[in-house]
Amino acid sequence: MSDNCIFCKIIAGDIPARYVYEDELVLVLEDINPQAPHHYLIVPRKHIRTTLDLTTADNELIGHVFQVAGKVAHDVGFADDGFRVINNCNEAGGQTVWHIHFHLLGGRDMTWPPG
Ligand code: AMP
Ligand code: ZN
Repeated sequence: MSDNCIFCKIIAGDIPARYVYEDELVLVLEDINPQAPHHYLIVPRKHIRTTLDLTTADNELIGHVFQVAGKVAHDVGFADDGFRVINNCNEAGGQTVWHIHFHLLGGRDMTWPPG
């Protein structure tokens, strides 16, 4: 838990959010500003500021994030069509919330390269 972290407040239940999945390691919530028909955020319960703050102790957690991405994509119904998992790191990478999270996007054709 980090003070003034919006995702820690959501995890603590102090700010409402719409969940599609949760377990002991992560929450998956609907993005408040969706960029695709399906746009979820996979948010570890542990407050980690950015990808650069990960350590080897987090390896299992990050593997789990991708397992959950596939499970949610499958359960919601867009896994076979295809989807994208994105982590934005630091300002030039597009990060705006300083608690590590992974965007799960699906339901439309993605373009490459991303903007
Ligand atoms: P990033 O720019 O990669 O740090 O992504 C932050 C994401 O969090 C953006 O896609 C926002 O739309 C989303 N977001 C911010 N506040 C909330 C919230 N209260 N509930 C759900 N999504 C949020
Ligand atoms: Zn946090």
